[in-house]
Amino acid sequence: MPEQPSATSELEALRPARKDRVIDLVRAAGLDVSDWSNSSRGEAGAATNPKYCYEWVFVEAGNAIVLNLWHVLLAEDAEGRIVHRGNFREDAEIQYARGRGNPWGLRATRLDAALQAALRDDLAVRVILNAGVRRDRDDPDAEASKVELRTLDPEPWSIGAYDAATGKHLLIRGAAPPAFVDQFSIDSDPGGASVRSEQTGSVFVRNPKVREAVLKRSCGRCEHCDEPGFRRADGAIYLETHHIVPLHEGGPDLIGNVIALCPNDHREAHYGEAAAALRLRFIAIVAVA
Ligand SMILES: [Zn+2]
Repeated sequence: MPEQPSATSELEALRPARKDRVIDLVRAAGLDVSDWSNSSRGEAGAATNPKYCYEWVFVEAGNAIVLNLWHVLLAEDAEGRIVHRGNFREDAEIQYARGRGNPWGLRATRLDAALQAALRDDLAVRVILNAGVRRDRDDPDAEASKVELRTLDPEPWSIGAYDAATGKHLLIRGAAPPAFVDQFSIDSDPGGASVRSEQTGSVFVRNPKVREAVLKRSCGRCEHCDEPGFRRADGAIYLETHHIVPLHEGGPDLIGNVIALCPNDHREAHYGEAAAALRLRFIAIVAVA
């Protein structure tokens, strides 16, 4: 059997090997950095604009957050994932306890706020990895950290857990699995448009956004019998999306014509004696959903 790369070596491979400029990494993460040149030094001062270059997190509404994390604080968990566990709010409180106007406290507070914004607005999470001399949080006399190496992790991250009451977080390297999935999530490439052969032999392209919206509307329960979908190994809840008026009969690929069903009800809708009656029921259900 070929040797699988372990997460430990993956973690090692993630250690930054060069020092990129923060502005370049934030731009590479897809954020708008045009305001960085908005100082008396203009474009020439963009990379060293003090309003931005010392920050630990960058947030762009409707887009993404970019967090600065110390590579040395990453860990491999029991499931082989690369994770960052911590509590930015607690970090901030330790700093605030040492006096007002502490820039480290403010920066840590902004990290905590960014996690909340990412959760609330479903923002992408990107990570800049830092290596160097890390300031000891618990030593009040420690000198400022010195970042010696810094790169952007090409992989997106996700927030695995966040305790709103305490600020404790678990960040996981890799995109979050979709909370709800259907039969096309399994058959198609992740993220790609789903194409699948119907019984008629015709091929219809389904809008993944429509399926996603219907699965979200279902809250993980069959919209006909109200039974919860089963849980897949990755934690996602499985239901099947069904076009009430089939695409080959000219039914539209819109949320008003799609219902999330448990596999049993879905088969019955296609093959059951009650198929025609079910269609009418589904139309009524979706009309009030
Ligand atoms: Zn059902």
